[in-house]
Amino acid sequence: RIKRELEALLGAMEAFLHSTLQLSQIAEQLYHFIGDVVPCQGLELSVDGVAETFSAGIVVAAMSDGDPHALRIPMSIGDDGDGKVTLFSPTGWAPDLDLRTLRILISGASGAVRNAVEMDRVRKRAITDPLTGLRNRLGFNIAAQNAMSAALQGDRALSVAMIDIDLFKAVNDTYGHAVGDAVLAAVAASFQQQTRSTDVVGRVGGEEFCLVLLDAGLSEAYQLAERIRRAVKGVALSADRREFAVTVSIGITAYQGEADNLDQMLARADEALYVAKTSGRDRCICAPVVA
Ligand code: GH3
Ligand code: MG
Ligand code: MG
Repeated sequence: RIKRELEALLGAMEAFLHSTLQLSQIAEQLYHFIGDVVPCQGLELSVDGVAETFSAGIVVAAMSDGDPHALRIPMSIGDDGDGKVTLFSPTGWAPDLDLRTLRILISGASGAVRNAVEMDRVRKRAITDPLTGLRNRLGFNIAAQNAMSAALQGDRALSVAMIDIDLFKAVNDTYGHAVGDAVLAAVAASFQQQTRSTDVVGRVGGEEFCLVLLDAGLSEAYQLAERIRRAVKGVALSADRREFAVTVSIGITAYQGEADNLDQMLARADEALYVAKTSGRDRCICAPVVA
């Protein structure tokens, strides 16, 4: 009878999980099904290669290994790695707890987790530039719009910086395309080093990059742009045993109130970038503030 009940529960859970490709929802569903079997206060799901962890119910942070309130059960997912489900109990887990049912339920969710992880990977690939690891144009557009919404909702400052590598064609012509690619990756890495996690950094063209800076007004954006300009210039590059450096030009603008929008900001940053180029390159120029 117990076996039949478990099979019914497992079947119901798998049917439920079939309808989602989101790890957060899987964690939520698994938590509810497990809660039918054992008194469980919270659940945490973590998966190899996925930075985020997903929790449901009440999860007590920083449970150390061997904590009697936390019960860790591995989840075998497939070739690319494994997962781990941690269950939390307010009263602690009995040492003679029968783990078989829990293991069966957790293993029953592994197919859904595998699909969700694969979906996640496909989604990420679609918005990531493989050469630099930055957001590609699509990824940039999505994240930039999100940053804009956050700025409007929270009445927070927002700025945009458009960056173009100077005379990059000459790098390719002198050292070859492969070196050019390595330079792009190195420059992108220094952008990432200089920016915060809330900043949106995208490769929007061949050697063109764009930043959207949340909580940065014009002067903060300019300071960051200057820092980036100097950092890039300081990256020691080498090819054919020769050392060289590249420079960037940057156009900057800040959100100017209700009549403004992201497209206009990008256009203004582009115009300022053009001024930076025509006035000698290796410099940051702010777009004029419309009165
Ligand atoms: P400017 O200072 O006016 O921007 O000069 P520039 O030479 O950088 O500008 P231009 O637009 O003439 O050339 C951009 C070059 O960037 C041409 C193109 O071959 C190169 N490029 C674009 N994408 C890639 C890439 O993915 N890899 C490599 N190696 N080169 C690229
Ligand atoms: Mg260009
Ligand atoms: Mg260029």
